[in-house]
Amino acid sequence: MSMDVTFLGTGAAYPSPTRGASAVVLRCEGECWLFDCGEGTQTQLMKSQLKAGRITKIFITHLHGDHFFGLPGLLCTISLQSGSVVSKQPIEIYGPVGLRDFIWRTMELSHTELVFHYVVHELVPTADQCPAEELKEFAHVNRADSPPKEEQGRTILLDSEENSYLLFDDEQFVVKAFRLFHRIPSFGFSVMEKKRPGKLNAQKLKDLGVPPGPAYGKLKNGISVVLENGVTISPQDVLKKPIVGRKICILGDCSGVVGDGGVKLCFEADLLIHEATLDDAQMDKAKEHGHSTPQMAATFAKLCRAKRLVLTHFSQRYKPVALAREGETDGIAELKKQAESVLDLQEVTLAEDFMVISIPIKK
Ligand SMILES: [Zn+2]
Ligand SMILES: [Zn+2]
Repeated sequence: MSMDVTFLGTGAAYPSPTRGASAVVLRCEGECWLFDCGEGTQTQLMKSQLKAGRITKIFITHLHGDHFFGLPGLLCTISLQSGSVVSKQPIEIYGPVGLRDFIWRTMELSHTELVFHYVVHELVPTADQCPAEELKEFAHVNRADSPPKEEQGRTILLDSEENSYLLFDDEQFVVKAFRLFHRIPSFGFSVMEKKRPGKLNAQKLKDLGVPPGPAYGKLKNGISVVLENGVTISPQDVLKKPIVGRKICILGDCSGVVGDGGVKLCFEADLLIHEATLDDAQMDKAKEHGHSTPQMAATFAKLCRAKRLVLTHFSQRYKPVALAREGETDGIAELKKQAESVLDLQEVTLAEDFMVISIPIKK
């Protein structure tokens, strides 16, 4: 199964012509999952190879405008482009408490009638995810009617033993969230692909005399078969090594993690996407604003033994490499060096808008 990640926006605070506001798409076999949806995400999508209509799930890390102000517009456009075709499956949206009301109000105030259904699953943060003075309790709005196209979503609480939030667990993936510290509560997401059975070993099947046909399918699905001669063939006799699942972790804005959920869920991630808003020389300022520097991001990646670190969410002052003038002191290249110095020179990638990274199947 092919899997790749496309960066649609890699800038902090607001979208600019050189860096869009936060948005990342994870594509698996044509299905797109969008992580954050800053203002302008829909035009970035149009400029990319991806199709907005393929988005089936949306994950919002936190409720700062540069991470979700693009959502109402994107939903409207997907609806317009859907014509009269109503997709059977609702779009699943995951994000912090407050997101459901935001979507409902924007749809209602703008008299928008989406053609598709959607469902919002809200994560309840804990008080230690932001400075005490910033914590807001969102009073649940008393709704006389539920919005027309909204289906009942779940309210997801922290599993205090695991230190994480279980978003869903299906045949192919387990997706969990973990807590981050920021100016307002923020989350990271861990997408874990499940282990799949290995391929059938054609030579062994032949040697053992398994006739081609339904028996192959059963063995592939982990069911033993009995041959005409009475011999039982177990799946492990004829299957090659199982295919290990891939792990992609995407963190929202943060100056650190809360609890050990992040380290556990990002352990040995194939791809770890972490913010680095400012360079190391401005670490105090970065922390004050709830952000990270390359050194902070790389220290977390090292702790998790992540296989590949990608930095994103750069202050708009850091122009993409191609535009950064040589000799510029606050050039983007400096951020790469700062992160790599922590990771013993393991290569670190700096995200740019429209960069695509594929995550190959593990051998
Ligand atoms: Zn941000
Ligand atoms: Zn933020």
